[in-house]
Amino acid sequence: MAKWVYLFKEGNADMRNLLGGKGANLAEMTNLGLPIPQGFTVTTEACTDYYNSGKKITEEIQGQIFDALAWLEAENGRKFGDTENPLLVSVRSGARASMPGMMDTILNLGLNDVSVEGFAKKTGNPRFAYDSYRRFIQMFSDVVMEVPKSFFEKIIDEVKTAKGVHYDTELTADDLKELIARFKQVYKDAMNGEEFPQDPKVQLMDAVKAVFRSWDNPRAIVYRRMNDIPGDWGTAVNVQTMVFGNMGDTSGTGVAFTRNPSTGARGIYGEYLINAQGEDVVAGVRTPQPITKLAEDLPECYKEFMAIANKLEDHYRDMQDMEFTIQEGKLYFLQTRNGKRTAPAAIQIACDLVDEGKITPEEAVCRIEAKSLDQLLHPTFDTAALKAGEVIGSALPASPGAAAGKVYFTAEDAKEAHEKGERVILVRLETSPEDIEGMHAAEGILTVRGGMTSHAAVVARGMGTCCVSGCGEIKIDEAAKKFELGGHAFTEGDYISLDGTTGKIYKGDIKTMEASVGGNFGRIMRWADQFRKLQVRTNADTPIDTENAVKLGAEGIGLCRTEHMFFDPDRIPKIRKMILSDSVEVREAALNELIPFQKADFKAMYKALRGRPMTVRYLDPPLHEFVPTDPADIKALADDMGLTPEQVKAKCDDLHEFNPMMGHRGCRLAVTYPEIAKMQTRAIIEAAIEVKEEMGYDIVPEIMIPLVGEKKELKFVKDVVIATAEEVMKEKGEYINYHVGTMIEIPRAALTADKIAEEAEFFSFGTNDLTQMTFGFSRDDAGKFLQSYYSNKIYESDPFAKLDQEGVGQLVAMAAKKGRKTNPNLKLGICGEHGGDPSSVEFCHKIGLNYVSCSPYRVPIARLAAAQAAIKQK
Ligand code: PEP
Ligand code: MG
Repeated sequence: MAKWVYLFKEGNADMRNLLGGKGANLAEMTNLGLPIPQGFTVTTEACTDYYNSGKKITEEIQGQIFDALAWLEAENGRKFGDTENPLLVSVRSGARASMPGMMDTILNLGLNDVSVEGFAKKTGNPRFAYDSYRRFIQMFSDVVMEVPKSFFEKIIDEVKTAKGVHYDTELTADDLKELIARFKQVYKDAMNGEEFPQDPKVQLMDAVKAVFRSWDNPRAIVYRRMNDIPGDWGTAVNVQTMVFGNMGDTSGTGVAFTRNPSTGARGIYGEYLINAQGEDVVAGVRTPQPITKLAEDLPECYKEFMAIANKLEDHYRDMQDMEFTIQEGKLYFLQTRNGKRTAPAAIQIACDLVDEGKITPEEAVCRIEAKSLDQLLHPTFDTAALKAGEVIGSALPASPGAAAGKVYFTAEDAKEAHEKGERVILVRLETSPEDIEGMHAAEGILTVRGGMTSHAAVVARGMGTCCVSGCGEIKIDEAAKKFELGGHAFTEGDYISLDGTTGKIYKGDIKTMEASVGGNFGRIMRWADQFRKLQVRTNADTPIDTENAVKLGAEGIGLCRTEHMFFDPDRIPKIRKMILSDSVEVREAALNELIPFQKADFKAMYKALRGRPMTVRYLDPPLHEFVPTDPADIKALADDMGLTPEQVKAKCDDLHEFNPMMGHRGCRLAVTYPEIAKMQTRAIIEAAIEVKEEMGYDIVPEIMIPLVGEKKELKFVKDVVIATAEEVMKEKGEYINYHVGTMIEIPRAALTADKIAEEAEFFSFGTNDLTQMTFGFSRDDAGKFLQSYYSNKIYESDPFAKLDQEGVGQLVAMAAKKGRKTNPNLKLGICGEHGGDPSSVEFCHKIGLNYVSCSPYRVPIARLAAAQAAIKQK
């Protein structure tokens, strides 16, 4: 019989895949002899089984849950539903990778009409017992049965009004009894006459199912996609004896980190609330006290807490994020995990741990999530602009960075505005996990309530989005979409700016500046460079991008999209002229106008590269991106070409394609108009020779022919390239080395890679087109329907962002193998967007590519991901 349920004392930290992070760590802490309220974990495999069995928990699993429950009752000397001293439990999710706030939790489970009396007797505090029961009914109804929270809130308000009181805490035991009766009626009405379940075992099984179900709630799905967490992992469920932080002034609850999760600074960091339940801290409804103040409130507990915190950090050799509860002076740990942290903190902590002799540089490199480096490269405020800015308020610096944008008050509005291209600041009373998409769309997040560990803060830090939280000075009217702060009124669409590093809030749109990276970042990157096997190049089309990428560690250019060199408003007419030419003479004249620009840019880029290699991709303009549509553009072009606007319009209509992405682009242009390839070859070779003369760099141009699907097609264009290169070198009296290669971005090219490799010195996988053509859907339009594919669990992630290793990856691996078979010296790289995605980089490492190429800001990410792939393989 399979084992589906583990007591905490039966597990350990290595069982994370089976027990989830929370379960594995509760087991580990139990083994370490720490004060853990005991309990058991229903495994992630049971979750998978639940889904595979048509969302049912089998008898076998239920049997094991009840056996564990019987053990827990004996261990505690308390029984479920007891009239004297009932056992109460919490039921909480816990996946392999932590997903804070994304899934469901139920507290106080086990209370019913009978056990609440027993609980009142045992605690000697009937008010407390009834309050716990009404909270449980509310939470169970909401989380397990999906009865809206608002139904219950309305009743609380009614009872408070009737009793003439202001705060929940002013309600008496009798008032709470009345609430319980009314809550149960709400439940019954919403559940078509079904009574609130009185059998704690029924409550438990329903709660376990609800947690399993919450693995697939929309916000968890979005979170998984953002964090590359596979949908088939499932979540474990932890059933743990309740302890109470809300039993008076010697009770409390808190969350703390062993180091600062924003900056990485050494020293305990966290907050707590006296006389509160855990959810009060995490939900950010009351603003908590700094953890160090616990030393004054409950000195003994603080001492013990610090000793355990240090022990845990030493044990896990990493910064810990811990939840604890003090029940009438007795300290309990409810969980520990490796804490989520900002990228600057991750780097600081990794370097400090190396210096403290706790981890090796290899481990340090693996401790930093490659994607998170994005945060380091995020903007800060322009110092002068910031000085001139008007501070209108300040609050907790919850997630660093600078952001300026228009205020929006709901996640939907934020998302919509973002999609329209606006910069958005999301302003909320407090954020809840449902807001995740809006938070993702926002440049910055401002909340009225909540501490540093509130949902908004944790999620924003994870996303690297600037966040200022807990700004109590704000007078907000969410429904009317307006707020007041620092004597100013703001409505939807007004600009504000946030500094997530200082917590300051500014009026207006303050200019932001590019990020610069500090010393420890360089240290991590140097370690990464020692371990990685893959080279990292950049996709850059301008001298500025090239400079930038070189600063970020690019070892050359892997893709220069030459058509992008003409995006500039005063250049685009020239390329349009070339596209619209209908005779060789007119086209050559147009090309002659293009050459000087192209050559000057190549020279500037060669210089910026200071001898590093550059792969120049020949023109590949999908026509719909380049043909003019604006009447003013058409008129200007007509004037320039000595034609009438009607004639230009007619030429444009002639060029219309039904599927421009599969149209007259890539090498097909050079096959039809070899003069284009000639012009580009001339520009490349002349630029290389001149830069060699001027600067002494030995430049070996890499000429890349795009969208090849057939060896003879490549050979045709290559012949033009070679003939022109020879001609130019002869004219110049200077001979240089150069290479000709191709992109593999059409499935047929991958399938015939052995043949194509006979004509190519290198392959660069254009996985944008290769993905488009392998899936058979447009890279520009897929966004419209991919959402349905995520919600229907057909795809988990965007194949244009994360390489589809199962399908497209097979083509890449096969082409690499076939190509090297006929041409053992073939150099292999990737230049599709996937070159900067960590999981795709790992794949490229595994199949033995020589390099990845990605946009400049992702170069550090690729360097780190490449190192992590190499270390992991070892
Ligand atoms: C590709 O297709 O992956 C590629 C890099 O080329 P482009 O994006 O310019 O089509
Ligand atoms: Mg392409």
